[in-house]
Amino acid sequence: MKTNNFWFLAGSQHLYGDETLRQVSVHAEEIARVWNASSALPFGVVFKGVMKTPDEITSVMKAANADDGCAGVITWMHTFSPSKMWIGGFSILTKPYCHLHTQFNRNIPDNEIDMDFMNLNQSAHGDREHGFIAARMKLARKVVVGFWQDAEVTAQIGSWMRSAIGAAFSRNLRVMRFGDNMRQVAVTEGDKVEAQMKLGWQVNTHPVGDLVLEMEKVTDAAIEEKLSEYKKRYKFDTDDMAAVRYQAKEEIAIARMLESFGCRAFSNTFEDLHGMEQLPGLATQNLMASGVGYGGEGDWKTAAMVSIVKAMTEGMPGGTSFMEDYTYDLEKGKELSLGAHMLEVCPTIAEGTPLVQVHALGIGGRNPPARLVFEGHAGRATAASLIDLGGRFRLIVQEVEAVKPIYKMPNLPVARVMWKGLPSFIEGTKCWILAGGAHHTVFSYDATYEMLSDWANIMGIECVRIGEGTTADSLEKELFISDLAWKLR
Ligand code: MN
Repeated sequence: MKTNNFWFLAGSQHLYGDETLRQVSVHAEEIARVWNASSALPFGVVFKGVMKTPDEITSVMKAANADDGCAGVITWMHTFSPSKMWIGGFSILTKPYCHLHTQFNRNIPDNEIDMDFMNLNQSAHGDREHGFIAARMKLARKVVVGFWQDAEVTAQIGSWMRSAIGAAFSRNLRVMRFGDNMRQVAVTEGDKVEAQMKLGWQVNTHPVGDLVLEMEKVTDAAIEEKLSEYKKRYKFDTDDMAAVRYQAKEEIAIARMLESFGCRAFSNTFEDLHGMEQLPGLATQNLMASGVGYGGEGDWKTAAMVSIVKAMTEGMPGGTSFMEDYTYDLEKGKELSLGAHMLEVCPTIAEGTPLVQVHALGIGGRNPPARLVFEGHAGRATAASLIDLGGRFRLIVQEVEAVKPIYKMPNLPVARVMWKGLPSFIEGTKCWILAGGAHHTVFSYDATYEMLSDWANIMGIECVRIGEGTTADSLEKELFISDLAWKLR
C-alpha cells in the first residue's frame, strides 16, 4: 500500500476553557493511537488538532488539499463547534470527507456524571450542528455512527478509507487505448472529456504499431525471466512453448508502454491487432494479476474501473477481475450465470492453480493464443458496470453469490466463474437490464456495494444497487426519479 493517511479533526470552540480543550485533545489523540496500534483500519490516522476557529479550520483544509499523502478528512465534534466556523473550510475541501459521530466514553458514568462531564462529552448535539452544515452545503460525505471501538464502526470507516483511496487513484489515472472500441458497440462508448472532468481519467489512444515495435525490442533473456515467473505462478498444460513465449513478449512490451506513459489500465480489441500474431491472453491475465486494469473490445471505462477497484481493495484476499456475462444455466429456481471472456479473466479470482493452455480462437483470425484456464472460487461478490447516459455516468452494482461451477465443461478453453445474482436470477437480471448495465463488469470478491457507492458519492456520480430486497418495480421508479434529479445537479 502507498503511504496514504487520513486526517482526524476534533471540533470544539474557545467557550469551554483550556482544561476542557486539553481533554478533548487527549481523547482524540487516544482514539487515533488505538486505531493506529490495531489492525482495525487499513490506513493510518493522523490527529491534526482541536479546531476552535474559522481560520484554523480553513487553514487545515487548505493543508489537507495540498498534501498528496492525505487521502481524506475525518471530523468529530467532541463538544459543540458552531458550524458557521466550518463553512470556509468545507467550501474549499477537495478531499473525501467522513463525519464520525461517536463519543469517547462508551457508558454514562452513573455516579460521576455532572455538568462538567456533560459539557465535555456533548457530541450528541455537537455532531448534529455539524451534520446540518454538511446537509445545507450538500457536501458529499460518509456518516458513521457508533462507539469508536466497535467493530462495525471501524469496518465502515475502513471501507470508506478504501473508497477514498479509489478516488485518489481515479483522479490520477491514465488509461492506454490500443485501437478504438469494437465496431458498432454502444455500451463501451463514452465521453472521455466528461470522464476526465468527473473522474479524473486521462484516456488516450496509442497505435498498436507502437506496441509491435516495442515487442521487437524484447530480448530472449527478458522472455526467459517472464517464463520463470509464469512457471512459479501457474501450471503448464501445453507443449506449445512458442505460443507462451509470444505472450511473454506481449506482456513485457505492454508493461513497458504502460510504464513509460504512466498508465495503470489499458484496453485493446481483436479488431485491431495489426502486426501481432496472437490476441494477448496470458499476457493480459498476468498483467491484471499485478494490479493493471483491463477492458476487452476497447472498453476503456471497464478497464479504468478494474484498476480502481484493484487499488481500493489492495491487500484483500478475494480477487478482482474484468468479467463478462457470457451464458446461462436456466434450470428453474436454480438459475446461474456463467461468466468468462474470450481470454482475459484475472487469475486473482482463481480457485487453485491456473493452467496455461493454448487453443485456437474463433474470433479475430490470429494464431492460437496461450491463456490461463481456471475456475473462479465461491463466495459473495459484486459485479459493477459504469455506463455513460449522455452528460453523466451511472455505476450499477449487483450483489452476487459465486458458486463452484456446477459443470466440468472440459471443452471450454477459458477461465470461468458461475454465480447467482441477487435478489434472484430473474429479478436481479431484470433490474440490471432496466438500469442499462453492460455485459462487461468489474467482478470483485472484495469490493462491497458500500465501498463502491461511497466511491461514486465522492466522485459525484449516480450509483444503483441491485441486491437483497431490490425489486424491478421499485427500481424502475427509482431510476425515473433519479434521472430527473441528476439533470438538476
Ligand atoms: Mn467482451
